[in-house]
Amino acid sequence: MNDLQLEMNFSRETSRNRLRDTINRGEFVLLVECNSPGRDIDPAAAVEKLAVMEKAALESTELPVSLAITDGYRSLKSYRAVECAAALSPENRDRHLVYLSGRDVDAAELKNLSSLALDAGIRNLIAVSGDAARGESVKETRKRAFTESIEMLNVWQNRNHPALQIGAATNPFQYTAYTLIPQYNKMLRKIHSGAQVIVTQAGWDMLKLQTLRWYLTLRDLYIPTVARLVLLTPERVEKILAGFYPGITISPDFRKILDKELRFSLAQFEAAQWRRLELQAAGCRLLGYSGIQLSGIDHPAKLKIAVERIAAALKEFTEFDHWLEEYNSYLAMTEMAPFCGSFHLFDRVLHRAYPEKPPRLNEPEPPAVSGAEKLRLALRSFFFPHADRQPPENRRLLKAILCGCRSCAECRLPQCMFTCPEHCPKRLANGSCGGMKPNGMCELSTAECVHRRITRLAHYRGEGGNLEDLILHSGRK
Ligand code: SF4
Ligand code: SF4
Repeated sequence: MNDLQLEMNFSRETSRNRLRDTINRGEFVLLVECNSPGRDIDPAAAVEKLAVMEKAALESTELPVSLAITDGYRSLKSYRAVECAAALSPENRDRHLVYLSGRDVDAAELKNLSSLALDAGIRNLIAVSGDAARGESVKETRKRAFTESIEMLNVWQNRNHPALQIGAATNPFQYTAYTLIPQYNKMLRKIHSGAQVIVTQAGWDMLKLQTLRWYLTLRDLYIPTVARLVLLTPERVEKILAGFYPGITISPDFRKILDKELRFSLAQFEAAQWRRLELQAAGCRLLGYSGIQLSGIDHPAKLKIAVERIAAALKEFTEFDHWLEEYNSYLAMTEMAPFCGSFHLFDRVLHRAYPEKPPRLNEPEPPAVSGAEKLRLALRSFFFPHADRQPPENRRLLKAILCGCRSCAECRLPQCMFTCPEHCPKRLANGSCGGMKPNGMCELSTAECVHRRITRLAHYRGEGGNLEDLILHSGRK
């Protein structure tokens, strides 16, 4: 499977999960994000690179620090995160969070990687469906296997391992009703599929981070959440603005602030980023997050600074009102939404740490559905009301004409508002990926995200609630 030297963990304590224990004790955790190293470097050097960061992380005395090893992030030429984690020292593997991306993973590979993780003593796994590879077209992406995070969670849950903590990601940084609701629906489906911890997409909007916490509380879902934060550099800002990281956005207002910070000097810019990070980290703890996953820390010395600064910020801000005053004055009430007129699930977010009484969910505006869409929906529901109970080849030609059928192995038209889920370039059936653009377009094209369309149509028919816990199989043959 790999050329990394793996040291298995059969003889060691298998029921131990120290990251989970730390979170359960209520200690605020810093997870330092390390991308799985590229295959262009020697296997020993790849492991050494992570081992150096691990050593620095575990030396922290100020707060609990672990690694979050991400899997082939945007790159096709990386070692798998599970392989890398399995090559680190065996006694600490239960302290780290390890990602598994579904890109290029079929059922057999999922089984292999899951067994490798468990046998090696990895105890904290995060399932992500995976990004499209940089520069690849929709057509090229379609040819790749993408195993959905929900499928991975189901496999892991079935392993029934007492020490295993499994989780998933969500993108709460969406600003219209019909881009936000698919993200929340998918998160609920992941939780129903066994996710025990939720990690957010990277972002800066504390209002959206609080919305997520309030939403989970409202639904009586008391599961740990980790906010993914980024220590910005001018290069990283440029890359985000250029769309290098799908699903991560910088609003025009925030960009103005960053430009202003950079205008003085690089040192000024860096100081501003550290202060922003401190404020965000302290805010996350006060909002009820169990920790943060920090990206942009690529050296042990930087990790040490991050630990010191975050630990100091946690001591500085112990009261929500004190933190909010400082946060607002520092960011001068910057609008983090990429456009005006954003949709918010709750009113009066970011005024208090916890709602006085259960917050009321704002109803979305009725969705815009064109006459052509209504006609298509009516025709498709007339011709294919039971397509899910029939062999997929049934009425294939008519399905191709009316729905653009792509000939998969399991028809799910009735559950998907008669919108073929196979039109998603990653063939995801259970909701939008984190890369959907703020305007609801697909990560990979100028077409509307299939799952935004399904959500719009479901709300148009008054069936939006049905999407919350519907879990669909893949259409893979
Ligand atoms: S889900 Fe789509 S591709 Fe699969 S059988 Fe139905 S219409 Fe065809
Ligand atoms: S259609 Fe939606 S879920 Fe599929 S790749 Fe595009 S943005 Fe992601």
